[in-house]
Amino acid sequence: MNNRLALIRERIEQRLDAIPDPVTGKGLFTSGRISGLDVREDGKVSFTLEAPADIAEHYVAVRNRADAEVGKVEGVRKVTAVLTAHEAKPRNAGGIGGVKHVIAVASAKGGVGKSTVAVNLACAFASLGLKTGLLDLDVYGPSAPTLLGTGERRPQMSREKILDPLDAHGMKTMSIGYLVDAASPMIWRGAMATSAVRQMIDEVAWGDLDVLVLDMPPGTGDVQVTLVQRVPLAGAVIVSTPQEMALADVRRGIAMFEKTRAPILGVIENMAYFETPDGKRTHIFGEGGARRTAEAAGAPFLGEVPIDVALRESCDAGAPLAATQPDHPASRRFREMAQAALANVARLNKPAPTIRVQ
Ligand code: ADP
Repeated sequence: MNNRLALIRERIEQRLDAIPDPVTGKGLFTSGRISGLDVREDGKVSFTLEAPADIAEHYVAVRNRADAEVGKVEGVRKVTAVLTAHEAKPRNAGGIGGVKHVIAVASAKGGVGKSTVAVNLACAFASLGLKTGLLDLDVYGPSAPTLLGTGERRPQMSREKILDPLDAHGMKTMSIGYLVDAASPMIWRGAMATSAVRQMIDEVAWGDLDVLVLDMPPGTGDVQVTLVQRVPLAGAVIVSTPQEMALADVRRGIAMFEKTRAPILGVIENMAYFETPDGKRTHIFGEGGARRTAEAAGAPFLGEVPIDVALRESCDAGAPLAATQPDHPASRRFREMAQAALANVARLNKPAPTIRVQ
């Protein structure tokens, strides 16, 4: 898809999401009513509006409005909006309608171990018996293929335009690295990146999951917000190292998720200390600072992960420690943090979060 089409597609999605769904009160896109959005070079656009079977007639007016709104987007010449009735709950064959909790893992900077934490945290959720997915959203430098060791496996398309996620370590996983060469994501630009992310969310058969972990691209800017704006997040986990554990960084992370109205489930301090074989811990950068920093920024503290050779080796080998060595101390740590994050999902999502639609 070229950049112009990606932009048009994004504007269409925005228009559609500005129309409230009669049942959920949220945007049509967010509510999972829109499927098969197709934008052609010649300006022809088609999509399906999926209405609940029992009240499908109420959706005729919605379809007409969607048709008219999409027609206003610059570059669109002809709109075909098909209304279909569905027996099941409003959910595409693809998409995250069946996911209970979407948890984003983010960091202010790259190289702090965000992906390592995201993958091991996801494995920890799975080891707690939760149906778990992992979506690597870093379209510029996807790490899931390496961390999960998926090798040459590629996602299959079982339905039209809907990809099946790859099963890895008991989880459903998706990454742009499964779809394109490792080198090419680097040249992607804003709108295309956003579009690729949308597809990995909307056009992947995530099915019923308890938890979907999003490995966010590093940074806490608008790019990251745009990527997840239409995803109803249960909350976010912020990863930092002791050096980076600056109040400003954690605050930036919190501010970013405020825009998505997602609560901060907690801060994880990675590479917190090094333990020598005799059990001596060296807190190179002092002790307890992370907890204080998190609390000062108004966020819960989930825990520390030490610098651990086994953790690094397991990443390089595509065999996440939390899945392959569940009794390793670091794996236990991840399980505790996963449990703490889940407790915070329950605590911080009452009442149900409102999703801001732009
Ligand atoms: P990010 O996603 O923040 O860019 P990565 O997860 O890719 O960071 O981690 C960067 C490097 O640090 C990787 O080589 C990873 O194996 C290593 N690493 C991350 N956390 C730890 C840890 N706690 N102990 C040892 N090595 C780690």
